[in-house]
Amino acid sequence: MSNTSLLNETHNPALRSWVESANVENCDFPIQNLPFASFKTKASDEEFRGGVAIGNQVLDLQAVFALNVFEGDVQVALEACSKAQLNDFMSMGKHFWSALRQALSQALTQGSALEVKLIDCLVAQDSVEYALPCHIGDYTDFYTSIHHATSVGKKFRPDNPLLPNYKWVPIGYHGRSSSIEVSGSDFKRPKGQTKAPTATEPSFGPCKRLDYELEVGVFIGNGNDLGEPINIEHADDHVFGICLFNDWSARDIQGWEYQPLGPFLSKSFASTISPWIVTSEALAPYKTAWTRDLADPQPMPYLESQQNRAQGSLDLNLQVLIATEAMRKAEQAAVQLSQSNFKDSYWTVAQMVTHHTVNGCNLRAGDMFGSGTQSGPNPEEAGSMLELSNAGSEPISLPNGETRTFLEDGDCVIMTGWCKKDGAARIGFGEVTATILPAS
Ligand code: CA
Repeated sequence: MSNTSLLNETHNPALRSWVESANVENCDFPIQNLPFASFKTKASDEEFRGGVAIGNQVLDLQAVFALNVFEGDVQVALEACSKAQLNDFMSMGKHFWSALRQALSQALTQGSALEVKLIDCLVAQDSVEYALPCHIGDYTDFYTSIHHATSVGKKFRPDNPLLPNYKWVPIGYHGRSSSIEVSGSDFKRPKGQTKAPTATEPSFGPCKRLDYELEVGVFIGNGNDLGEPINIEHADDHVFGICLFNDWSARDIQGWEYQPLGPFLSKSFASTISPWIVTSEALAPYKTAWTRDLADPQPMPYLESQQNRAQGSLDLNLQVLIATEAMRKAEQAAVQLSQSNFKDSYWTVAQMVTHHTVNGCNLRAGDMFGSGTQSGPNPEEAGSMLELSNAGSEPISLPNGETRTFLEDGDCVIMTGWCKKDGAARIGFGEVTATILPAS
């Protein structure tokens, strides 16, 4: 199966919207994208509700529902999107997601008779604030970049970087969802126990090795019943969409606490997602072949399918930038720290879904997976400071003369993502950003 079978008229790169800002080159939110968020007017007492991004505007789905210009499944989907949390809509499955996407695509296309009505349902993105798009019941963090796993493994275990299970099992751990917040939520530097390699005893205090992790967040739509695994052939049908995800990490706390049960307080103090979920359907043109090096173990049959081979990878460019406090005071633009691509992931989203449920574990609408830090094959494609600064031994120089080994108070980290391919529109993910506040 090629991904052309996943394409429909909503992906047509020639489509233009009557919302002119959506037609500007390199706009993240052209009419081919149509991602979902939960929003309200900034500092207002309005309720949060679902919205779709178009150009520099948000289409208010509660207002569109109230217009009553759609019918059937589209109106049912709009009603679910009128709520502050999109779990109900996400649980409805592909048929409803697709029906709404098609209706909104047509209604927002140049020449649509609905322009005169929908124009009153637009809110400028500049004037809104976002909430988490859904209730995230459970959060699982995977570890799908072999480049990240190898280079981090070297720092924690120089003689044994990649543990023998890595090439067989899509490794993950159950994370904490309560501390996941939406872009713009600043947080305090965590405190905890750390132990320097040369110290005889641990000490307590603010984290000294605060890091970001460049990840992709995967949102589950319709889940599965307990005891009923999701076959890999159907795994993609359960994925509502994808966002950008910064899984902040306290490396010094992690180094002391992680054995033998894995990360705990080094990960649960803050994680930040971009407000917009780019849907699986919008991502169809950028799905690409997935391969496994013939020298490596091939996936077990439950993690293998023709469809996963043909289109299991996603060509998604990822970028990390930093704006330090000094840079912001001097009104200097953020600078890039690194760039990588989700297509270099060792495991696919479908394999994550199937592996997660193979023991019968049930996923629910709104559950989120972190992909694990996405580092590419080259050193400059590292998705964390731990890798970029070689565990703090090689400071990174910034253009204003500052240096960094790990993050300092006042640093603002920005992540962006976009998909681009010949014969398809360029679509973007917006950004996820947060600033580190001093420890209390
Ligand atoms: Ca992580």
